[in-house]
Amino acid sequence: MSLFCSAFGFHYFCTKRRKMEHEELKRICVFCGSSSQTDPLFAEEAQELGKWLGYRQKQLVYGAGNVGLMGVLADATLAHGGTVEGIIPQFMVDAGWHHEGLTRLIVTQDMHERKRLMSEHSEAIIAFPGGIGTAEELLEVLTWKQLGLITKPIIILNINGHFDALLQWLDLLIQGRFMRELHRDMWVVAKSVAELEDAFLKCQPWDKGVRKIAAI
Ligand code: AMP
Repeated sequence: MSLFCSAFGFHYFCTKRRKMEHEELKRICVFCGSSSQTDPLFAEEAQELGKWLGYRQKQLVYGAGNVGLMGVLADATLAHGGTVEGIIPQFMVDAGWHHEGLTRLIVTQDMHERKRLMSEHSEAIIAFPGGIGTAEELLEVLTWKQLGLITKPIIILNINGHFDALLQWLDLLIQGRFMRELHRDMWVVAKSVAELEDAFLKCQPWDKGVRKIAAI
């Protein structure tokens, strides 16, 4: 009985500690699609994510786009009490792609600086459904995490199975020993915004020391 109590107590302590840690994550970077032609369910879920961030007074860090899921997410975050930092390269501003109503707009020289700053300015990353740009951003931060360059939580919001093929391919990399089983802990998958809270609790601590085992 006392063993049960101490095990239960330890579990409670760990969960509570992780909950506190996740509540302290104030700046959340979201990669998401710029298309406005996708199934309306993605825009609905982008609204939910904006609400989730806004109600918790989080700061959204994103690519500063004014259209598609990017625009919906930024507007919903602002409408529900959150703040939004947008980071966008000069050539996109020249093309008029930037959102003009953000809390803060940072204009970078190029895409590389944009991605670096989006990561540096956030404590956690969410990959929301998107196209090739979103996939590239997700794979880049996973690569950085594998190398121990970043240690922050990465959540893949697999709405409507959008990332199924990519997750299968990541599995293939592990089965084929292109990555270690341990690298699976670099990301956590959630099926909807309603599962986000739990997903943050499931994130495993990550350490810069993983660099030693980045090579298989
Ligand atoms: P995608 O997932 O292919 O729609 O691309 C999303 C990412 O591509 C964004 O994070 C940006 O890096 C870039 N991007 C593409 N189109 C736009 C746009 N109209 N406004 C802002 N960023 C864009």
